[in-house]
Amino acid sequence: MRLSPALAYGCHYSAPPLKHLLTFTLPRHHRPTHSTPLLPTTLLLSSQFPNPNFLTGNCPFFRMERFWAGSGINKNKAMVEHLKTYGVITSEKVAEVMEGIDRAFFVPDGNAPYYDSPMPIGYNATISAPHMHATCLQLLEENLQPGMHALDVGSGTGYLTACFALMVGPQGRVVGVEHIPELVSSSISNIQKSAAAPLLKEGSLSVHAGDGRLGWPEHAPYDAIHVGAAAPEIPQALIDQLKPGGRMVIPVGSVFQDLKVIDKNLDGSLSVRNETSVRYVPLTSRDVQLRGG
Ligand code: SAH
Repeated sequence: MRLSPALAYGCHYSAPPLKHLLTFTLPRHHRPTHSTPLLPTTLLLSSQFPNPNFLTGNCPFFRMERFWAGSGINKNKAMVEHLKTYGVITSEKVAEVMEGIDRAFFVPDGNAPYYDSPMPIGYNATISAPHMHATCLQLLEENLQPGMHALDVGSGTGYLTACFALMVGPQGRVVGVEHIPELVSSSISNIQKSAAAPLLKEGSLSVHAGDGRLGWPEHAPYDAIHVGAAAPEIPQALIDQLKPGGRMVIPVGSVFQDLKVIDKNLDGSLSVRNETSVRYVPLTSRDVQLRGG
């Protein structure tokens, strides 16, 4: 079976080689910043799943439709189960953390919080799709062990920041840096409603307004750095603030972007690989972002 390389992903959309089963979560318009409800793309599904069950209601597409239409179940848990079923989540720890942090507290009202698509959060930004959050958590899992330090640049809604905090626990330190002050405030309110609230209160989790390209030196060096917006190049300050043995996950590029995994070796040298192609909002200045540039 030949698979299309173009899949919905990340903050916006991308073309990763993985998890073709996610194809049925593609938004119809490939423009997830639309505020209209996003629907699965049946055409792509039918061309990519020559499945005898397709019209019987037993294929994943129909099961997903029933899932999104259903009510009265723990949908956040069900969303995680679906990501496990389709091979996106393979780590029990990541599953546990994503079950613990309910996305409904982070996705603005009027959007479907458990839909596997990015959603607009205002200020020309989006919350990434659940499968992208899962992917980044898994890439960073070894560097989010209890007691470790993590930096979330472009923390937006605070969803991943909260997940990081559950991973590293009260002995760890998680810092979110976001350059839109209104998003910083709303992310703090979101986190206060979530399972990460005690960590925020105790101070092992904090979110700050600032230019994330400069990192956050106060709690450096970091075992894990996640960047939630695409940089034209890897900011030197973030490399400097990465601990030897640490890992950074960062989308790099403009029109064509790669999700890069950067490991800082113990001698300070870097090992860099491309995980997948992605499409994120740019890591830029606040003015440029607000102008929509
Ligand atoms: N991980 C976040 C992603 C939000 S989208 C989430 O899923 O909620 C990317 C975020 O990066 C936006 O909130 C945007 O405002 C922020 N951003 C872009 N450039 C930035 C910069 N230079 N410094 C800090 N934040 C930045």
